Amino acid sequence: MRQEDRSSLMSEDLAGLFRGELRFDAVAKAAYASDGSLYEVTPLGVAAPLDRDDLTVLCRYASEHKIPLVPRGAGSGVAGEALGEGLIVDLSRHLTAVEAVGESSVRVQSGVVLADLNRAIRATGRYFPPDPSNVLVTTIGGMLARDSAGSHSIEIGTTRDWVQSLEVVLASGASFEARSTPLTEINSAVPGRPTLSAPEAAILPQLAWLLRENADLIVKWQPATLKVNRCGYRLRDVLDRDVLNVPQVLVGSEGTLGFFSSATLRTRPLPLGRAVVLLEFKALEPATTAVTLCQKESLAACDLLDRRLLGLSREVDRYFETLISPDAEAVLILEWTTSSPQSALAAARNCLANLRDQAVNCRVLIETTDETDMARVWSLAQRVVPLLNQIKGNARPVPIVEDIAVPPAALHEFLLDAQRVLQEYEITASMYAHAAAGQIHLRPFLSLEVS
Ligand SMILES: Cc1cc2nc3c(=O)[nH]c(=O)nc-3n(C[C@H](O)[C@H](O)[C@H](O)COP(=O)(O)OP(=O)(O)OC[C@H]3O[C@@H](n4cnc5c(N)ncnc54)[C@H](O)[C@@H]3O)c2cc1C
Repeated sequence: MRQEDRSSLMSEDLAGLFRGELRFDAVAKAAYASDGSLYEVTPLGVAAPLDRDDLTVLCRYASEHKIPLVPRGAGSGVAGEALGEGLIVDLSRHLTAVEAVGESSVRVQSGVVLADLNRAIRATGRYFPPDPSNVLVTTIGGMLARDSAGSHSIEIGTTRDWVQSLEVVLASGASFEARSTPLTEINSAVPGRPTLSAPEAAILPQLAWLLRENADLIVKWQPATLKVNRCGYRLRDVLDRDVLNVPQVLVGSEGTLGFFSSATLRTRPLPLGRAVVLLEFKALEPATTAVTLCQKESLAACDLLDRRLLGLSREVDRYFETLISPDAEAVLILEWTTSSPQSALAAARNCLANLRDQAVNCRVLIETTDETDMARVWSLAQRVVPLLNQIKGNARPVPIVEDIAVPPAALHEFLLDAQRVLQEYEITASMYAHAAAGQIHLRPFLSLEVS
């Protein structure tokens, strides 16, 4: 069937059933043909469901007519995850309610933006801790689907670690609340029994069986020692002796296992004491040595920004232009969180003394416990990374080597190797690393023009 015929048939069929927006015009298709990646795929159309029931209607119809659906939040993913030739389902438009705030948890719809969520619950003295650097745009659904994490992952982990339960709408339109489910409930599952919903009764016994049968393979390929692994579904720690932790396998599934319409997330008390230090280095080697030494001091965050990013920050902000030397090769942003600002500062000073003792060549640009100053230091990373997309010219930073995982102890060796390869091919690159976690975003400057 021609695409135009298919879209007008869909519009007719869904009229009166689907209450949200359904668009097949060229403007909508162009707007959703790209995301934070370098890819471009024109979709069949775009749908924005009003709520879970609307999403269910859409899934049922799409499943019946074999139309691929692509969930989308803010569309900030850098690997083209929110693109596809089917119907893009924009959950950021209407599923934006913070539904309930509990003592230590919060129930949210998946289109809520992370910064809005934390603003909404701040008065309770708690927050939702995972912190990807694009906090102002990323949706909770996108974070769940990508298991997003940020600068503080060494202390607080990733999105997965903060999920209590998830409302999932499957491709068929069936939905259920995914939760940690006792095996006693699963083993006695009979469709229609009150303990398990029909979708759970159909899926969970098989899932538990698959995980049990392949336990050795899972341990072999997803060992506990591997801290960061973005390849495939997370199967480790899903099944234990008594419980099947269903959200664990769903988080990070990048829209391939179902839609998340709502989630119950755990929250954490706002830290009582924080201290932030900004260190400048004239070479990369002492910066990576500092990462290794500082890790011994119970750090909450340790980010490394290279010369390219610092150049950008100096261009866009007078404050950073004055603060950071033009010949700086790297900076480290270090943070400690403890029970009081005084003890956090003491931990920071302890670490700096250690760096001095070990003769690590660096300059302390900022050492602070002041909230405004700390926010300013962190804005360095938050502002400068998106600016990479705006660089003009033939060769641009291309996000194709994202989220590489390197054991932190091997960071220096990795950087030397990467530099050697880049030099061999005469390519420059920018680097932003959650250094203590060993997670690196390396963007080679490449010309994508076809000659
Ligand atoms: C400047 C910049 C900085 C970034 N910094 C970080 C960082 O520090 N850490 C990090 O981890 N990532 C980072 N990212 C990558 C990415 O933006 C984040 O992972 C973000 O959390 C994705 O959320 P989103 O709402 O934009 O999702 P989208 O890009 O819209 O979607 C991402 C994936 O989630 C799926 N999805 C979206 N919503 C749902 C839903 N409700 N149900 C099921 N599937 C869904 C999509 O199909 C897709 O597979 C960054 C990206 C940019 C451009």
